[in-house]
Amino acid sequence: MYIISACLCGVNCKYNGKDNLNERCLKLFKEGKAVLVCPEQLGGLPTPRNPVELNSSVQEVVEGKGRALSNSGEDVTKQFLDGAYETLKIANQVGATNAILKEGSPSCGCNFVYDGTFTGNKIKGKGVTAYILEKEGINIFSDEDLEVDNNKLVYLNEYDREKARKRKLFRQSEQSEYEEEYFDLTENIADMSELPPRVEENVKKLMISLAHDLMGFEEVDEIAEATGLSIEEVQEILNEDE
Ligand code: SF4
Repeated sequence: MYIISACLCGVNCKYNGKDNLNERCLKLFKEGKAVLVCPEQLGGLPTPRNPVELNSSVQEVVEGKGRALSNSGEDVTKQFLDGAYETLKIANQVGATNAILKEGSPSCGCNFVYDGTFTGNKIKGKGVTAYILEKEGINIFSDEDLEVDNNKLVYLNEYDREKARKRKLFRQSEQSEYEEEYFDLTENIADMSELPPRVEENVKKLMISLAHDLMGFEEVDEIAEATGLSIEEVQEILNEDE
């Protein structure tokens, strides 16, 4: 069973009284595989309502150090937290282990939210409900994480694993005869066991450069995932290069 943001199934629960219809989510709902929730309505907010953004990281909002504020300055942190915990309660009651939530929402966003300035600027982060569901062990996916292949949608855990695996792969060259071949940087680790320490160190540096410069991974944990090195190793090598 999935928890799905109600607006993704055509419910007019958005702050402006509209919806964010997503046909794949609606199909899951029609097949009886989903329970719909709108955390902001569950927390007691009316529809329509003023748009809200988080003025701090979601962790700080959940810990009471940050606030969810409307564009008129109204503090709706309590309603956001109430709605998130009601959603968690529903998820537990129906045994949902996956949630598909509306990207970018201060409640439902899974990968990004707006930065609290009401200027349309997006930053990496999660909404309050997404954060709490994930913290409690529920897999969260945004509507934007879903791809066209319905099979992937139905098997979201498998899809997520596949997505993580693909992130480690680097297409060698768009034009070359090896067009369909990929590098998996993590395979280099197994090959390094016989190398002298200095050579091993250089190979690790090269792998980090490939992950950063060619594959575009910026965060230390992403580079670690792409290379198979530990976060500590990556951090240490990056520090040395500074
Ligand atoms: S709180 Fe979530 S479900 Fe409700 S309107 Fe916003 S994005 Fe949709």
